[in-house]
Amino acid sequence: MDFKWTAHRFSGGTLALDVANSVILRTAADRSIDRFAEPEQLDAFAAAAMRLCAEPLPALVPPTVQDRASFLALREAIDRYFRRRIEGMDDPVLLADLLDTAARVLRAAHDESGLATSTARSALRLATRPDDGRLKICPNCGWLFLDRSKNKSRMWCDMTVCGNRRKASRHYRRTKDEGPR
Ligand SMILES: [Zn+2]
Repeated sequence: MDFKWTAHRFSGGTLALDVANSVILRTAADRSIDRFAEPEQLDAFAAAAMRLCAEPLPALVPPTVQDRASFLALREAIDRYFRRRIEGMDDPVLLADLLDTAARVLRAAHDESGLATSTARSALRLATRPDDGRLKICPNCGWLFLDRSKNKSRMWCDMTVCGNRRKASRHYRRTKDEGPR
């Protein structure tokens, strides 16, 4: 496999959202890919996150086999709660689910600097952030991200990937529409 945890895959701006974004095209069931489906990717992700995540992180120990399910449950709760919130609905039930899954991970913590506990702490920090319009959904790929730019002007998770791809497809459509039938 030539798959790599590149800087692009850490466009979320926080560990919690980078973890949520490990599912590619989450909203398109037929094309969706779970990058954590292969357990060894958790090790690779943890190693890359220490270098590439926008949040300063301790050394991240990947979850043990027993803790994997609760980590993935946390990932899903993060995506559900924040996606809904960005869409304009701060759903108390989804927030409760997020807190429950985070609590489960924190209670089972064997290692203070585990990937799972760091993700839970990151999600809690994000959940208690004031709403300042910085939480966004990339209109091209559907990833969640925290816009850390000075004037909150970021539109894409990653301009060099999603911004350009969108521009290219628009250009393609335009030239196709204008071309001979
Ligand atoms: Zn994107």
